Amino acid sequence: MPSRSLMAANWKMFKTVGESTAYAKELCRRMESWHEEAPEQVICPTLPALYTVSRALSQSSVKIGAQSLDLGREGANTGAVSGYLIREAGAAYVIVGHSERRQLYGEDDELVAEKAASALASHLIPIICVGETESQRNAGETDPVVDRQVTRALQRLTGAATVVIAYEPLWAIGTGLVPDPSEANRVAGRIRDAVQKIRPETTTTVRILYGGSVNRGNIRDFACQPQLDGALVGGASLDVAHWLDLIKGWQEVRQ
Ligand code: PEP
Repeated sequence: MPSRSLMAANWKMFKTVGESTAYAKELCRRMESWHEEAPEQVICPTLPALYTVSRALSQSSVKIGAQSLDLGREGANTGAVSGYLIREAGAAYVIVGHSERRQLYGEDDELVAEKAASALASHLIPIICVGETESQRNAGETDPVVDRQVTRALQRLTGAATVVIAYEPLWAIGTGLVPDPSEANRVAGRIRDAVQKIRPETTTTVRILYGGSVNRGNIRDFACQPQLDGALVGGASLDVAHWLDLIKGWQEVRQ
């Protein structure tokens, strides 16, 4: 099992550059007395804010992630931002296959696999999102859906790639609903098994997160689950005090 937990903040299309930078500076200020054993933190701001947030956090242990990437490196691709450019702007991680990208922008399993491979080729760690819809859950299809998404997402990787997988049931994202934490634990264990089958070299480094309506009231319930290595957080990460409560809540249970 990987040793250090990971907490990732997905700011989606929120916060101006000024607001993002102010948050980053406030995060640094509040973390001054912290020690290294806290979970690794990854902040994923909007693309326009990525560089300034990375500069503001450069003296801290907090890492930066992008929320998506486009394929390729450089070229005549109007509007596209490659992993290479994202890395160069200061990111170490990138979210791949978030359900909002799958649903709003038509990203399918094949594209998710290409993006995961492209992220790694750009020296970014992909945070690959998988999870079932409400109707799939009601039809008892969670396991085959998640197995298929994980297997397809990893199909283009080679060697001992470092990846993070976020189990994010779609019906839990932004709704205030959460699965029973023991169910999230069970699915995370299944994801680990699927990774083991398709990329055995990766099993010791893969970290599996839970995402979907995590907040300061439920973080400890998820932190108790042994198959979970952290959380991917949307709404509750937008407020710096709430975000730090999540980090502390996770740390309290895991240390
Ligand atoms: C997300 O968008 O990845 C997410 C988990 O959102 P929220 O925490 O707001 O449900």
